[in-house]
Amino acid sequence: MPNTPRRILIVGGGTSGSVLAARLSEHPDLHITVLEAGPDDHVYGDGVLDPTRAPEAWLGAQSVALTPMFNGDQVIPMLQGRMMGGTSAVNGLATLRGLPQDYDSWAASGLEGWAWDDVVSTFIAAETDMDFRSSPLHGNDGPLTVRRWRRDEMGRAQLAFLDGMLEKGAKTVTDINDPSQLPGLGVFPVTIDAAARRVTTSRAYLTPKVRARENLSIRPNAEVATLLIDGTRVTGVSLASGETIEADEVVVTAGALWTPNMLMRSGIGPADHLSEHGIEVHADLPVGETLSDHIGPGIRYRHDGPRGGTAGPAQSLLIGASDGTDVDYHAFPIAPPLSDGPTEFMMAVFLLRSSGQGKVRLADTDDNWPTVIAPPLPDNATARLQHAFNRIAEWEESDAANALGCAQIEPIDLRAPEAIATALERNTLSYGHMVGTCPMGPVLDADCRVRGITGLRVADASVMPTIPRGNTYLGCVMVAERIARKMIASLPNHTAKELA
Ligand SMILES: Cc1cc2nc3c(=O)[nH]c(=O)nc-3n(C[C@H](O)[C@H](O)[C@H](O)COP(=O)(O)OP(=O)(O)OC[C@H]3O[C@@H](n4cnc5c(N)ncnc54)[C@H](O)[C@@H]3O)c2cc1C
Repeated sequence: MPNTPRRILIVGGGTSGSVLAARLSEHPDLHITVLEAGPDDHVYGDGVLDPTRAPEAWLGAQSVALTPMFNGDQVIPMLQGRMMGGTSAVNGLATLRGLPQDYDSWAASGLEGWAWDDVVSTFIAAETDMDFRSSPLHGNDGPLTVRRWRRDEMGRAQLAFLDGMLEKGAKTVTDINDPSQLPGLGVFPVTIDAAARRVTTSRAYLTPKVRARENLSIRPNAEVATLLIDGTRVTGVSLASGETIEADEVVVTAGALWTPNMLMRSGIGPADHLSEHGIEVHADLPVGETLSDHIGPGIRYRHDGPRGGTAGPAQSLLIGASDGTDVDYHAFPIAPPLSDGPTEFMMAVFLLRSSGQGKVRLADTDDNWPTVIAPPLPDNATARLQHAFNRIAEWEESDAANALGCAQIEPIDLRAPEAIATALERNTLSYGHMVGTCPMGPVLDADCRVRGITGLRVADASVMPTIPRGNTYLGCVMVAERIARKMIASLPNHTAKELA
């Protein structure tokens, strides 16, 4: 007799949800339904696929969820993609892994299977690196096509940054995903195809062949309102439309802001906070209590003439170590949208450690959007930022910066004692790397099952117990790949052959 397939609902067809759907539907004993609040890939016009137009998405031209993040009196607009592919359809395309010590610290906290030696093979298997095909650190047949921007594709400010920093003694790094080469100056690897078009996880993993699988159903424009919970067992979900869907297991991949919001609305979260909102508590867990992000100041510059280039917003960067060895910041000029006139750009410095003390809380309003409190700056932030500011001050004096003819718009002496406070007051930026709101450890076990609840997992940026020192989207891909494997490995009839 054929097995009745196990019904899995994936809430959110974003970066992680697309990967999970593709991998789980490889298994004939599973039936996968993806419920995505936004539209399907057909919304991918040039605005999504053309890397030069990514900043337009940030201005709201694409399908995005714009959630304000409160940083004292400042409000940082926090956007996430709301469509198949999720934030991988609006992000800066940068494809970094973080550092071995970041993952080793996860394992050291008791999370078996998450050390660098465990996860590096997953990073490698996810990519086809068009520049380093045969290197032991890179993959040759994974779904994500990756390469570095070429000089002829880069904008004028980004080239001036590269050349000026080199002039001032920065060490060039050929592969910023090779931890042994860091710190140093390099070019972002990005997830683009041979025609230099954005590759979202939906495009890369949910190919027409995968979508044709009979055990995979993708439902765009299906916003999940709450999880259905009977005691401590999740039995399905209820959609905003009022429809209910039953399942044997639900995996929430709605992103680091929306996943905790959904869990809390469903009665999984800090009991006192849920009670304040009149929500019945199914599990008292510190959901939304430990938001991390890479935060830092931005300095605005202008130069004459067009931006130049055809590359995306993140091109050349300095990966800095304020003590000389321990990597702790990224500094780079963010490329603005293409235009003909004078070009304004933001020189961003992002601290790669986070205090982890940001929060996602239920809002007092009826619209179900979360309230997000930015994490305070991490320990020793001033010394770390001053190191970066000193390097940028040297760059301002370089021949390459002078040849570009760029100047700060509201000039600050970057070496002055008040420079950091002034820059932060004017522009505190988020790298968009929100993680850690349903962390493995306190909220999830090492297989990302929600503690005290059956039939429920989380498998997106929320699960990371601490923030890796790299851009976070590839980490989400890695998490989803590994959770898919763990779910398949836990099936009663699983054999090693099925996983090969
Ligand atoms: C502006 C910006 C630029 C960035 N640039 C980079 C970069 O260059 N490189 C990098 O590595 N990282 C970057 N990041 C971060 C990175 O893209 C994210 O960490 C990652 O994509 C998050 O993936 P996720 O799966 O956790 O969530 P998402 O990809 O956001 O997916 C969540 C999905 O869930 C859906 N959803 C939400 N609520 C519901 C609901 N109730 N019902 C159904 N569906 C729902 C959403 O519509 C969305 O599709 C950037 C982030 C931002 C904001």
